[in-house]
Amino acid sequence: MKVLVVNAGSSSLKYQLIDSDTEVVFARGICERIGQEGSEIDHRQLIKGVRYQKEMPMSNHADAMRIVVDMLTDPAFGCIGSMAEIDAVGHRVVHGGPFFVESVLVSPEVIKELEGCRDFAPLHTEAHLMGIKACLEVMPQVPEVLVFDTAFHRTMPEEAYFYPVSYDMYEKYKIRRYGAHGTSHRYVSGVMQDILAKAGKTKDTKIVTCHLGNGSSISAIRDGKVIDTSMGFTPLDGIEMGTRCGSIDPAIVTYIMDKKGFTPDRMNEYMNKECGFLGITGYNDARDIERAILAGPNAPPDPDNPRPDYYRARLCFSILHYQIKKYIGAYAAAMNGLDAIVFTAGIGENNPRLREEVCSGLSFLGIEIDKEANDRAVRQPNVLKLSTDTSKVFVYMIPTNEEIVIARDTAKIVSELGKK
Ligand code: AMP
Repeated sequence: MKVLVVNAGSSSLKYQLIDSDTEVVFARGICERIGQEGSEIDHRQLIKGVRYQKEMPMSNHADAMRIVVDMLTDPAFGCIGSMAEIDAVGHRVVHGGPFFVESVLVSPEVIKELEGCRDFAPLHTEAHLMGIKACLEVMPQVPEVLVFDTAFHRTMPEEAYFYPVSYDMYEKYKIRRYGAHGTSHRYVSGVMQDILAKAGKTKDTKIVTCHLGNGSSISAIRDGKVIDTSMGFTPLDGIEMGTRCGSIDPAIVTYIMDKKGFTPDRMNEYMNKECGFLGITGYNDARDIERAILAGPNAPPDPDNPRPDYYRARLCFSILHYQIKKYIGAYAAAMNGLDAIVFTAGIGENNPRLREEVCSGLSFLGIEIDKEANDRAVRQPNVLKLSTDTSKVFVYMIPTNEEIVIARDTAKIVSELGKK
């Protein structure tokens, strides 16, 4: 089955055309600045290895979708003869709120329920609705499936998802831990479980998955089910991130609002966009921070390639390493043991120093890192073992692949449809 995987943002639309049987990716691309000046498409056809980049007017997501279909069916840059070859569309959806616990087929009722998720992730939900409606407009005959980032976390027990605010907050406003990046945690933990099974560990598997990117979350996964995760009611919770503060004393929120005269919206913007790496160092990209640390405290300034202050950069990463270590330790306690740690996403897949720092601080768990293997694991497309053969805990770098999970779920739901 050919599945078009769509990830709609407020002014962007990412896509991949995947054969769900062979899991071959035929094409992928992104439409950016939708509804703005200078909108453009960057399309790659991966079988022929050709790329097409062009500025094209796109006043909304439906325009972008039409251009995507034109690209996919283009004789030179496309990979299918006609739109009729697209069997299904699978959408990535950031927040399923209290309504969605698994992937679903789009229907008018489902769209209504998704509209009810606006409160939990306003910008994302609006963008997803635009993406879904664009597909309905451009390919009305093609079934659409929604795959939620929160769904994999719905197995958490009460003690992990319940916040000790008053009970009515849960009843009235559905305040609880939902988590995020669930599709990524699901993919990498699934790969890790297969590796554990090959090593003879099939029962009571205990895995901690660290999705470390611009947004970061850590999950505890026991026997394939999430029992806790670091992101909470929203993706602001948990560890320090590119621009998000993660968990802080809740009293700081009202204190800053009072001192700075911030409204709730402004405070929300501050915590989401002006904190984390950016707030501490002035840079939100982990590569810039790494560069400053590697340059050392005495390196002369480089006007052509400015970098963060060394001490701030070190502080920023010390906080990060410390927080990751604390989560892994806490989750090992929550699961009463640990079989494997997985590192994934931009930082997890590409920053050996961070992985070494975190793991060397966990030697009491019997974790041993293979330094050479760890150092080699940068920009590698394959799963790599980072622990030594004598390590009591497996440590792996597993490149995440949320699109494959979306394509698999979509194909499963749509093929069931054909059987009815
Ligand atoms: P993501 O949100 O998964 O795309 O991850 C983005 C983060 O990963 C940014 O902070 C990047 O600096 C970091 N990152 C991406 N590629 C690399 C790389 N090759 N080396 C170090 N960090 C990287």
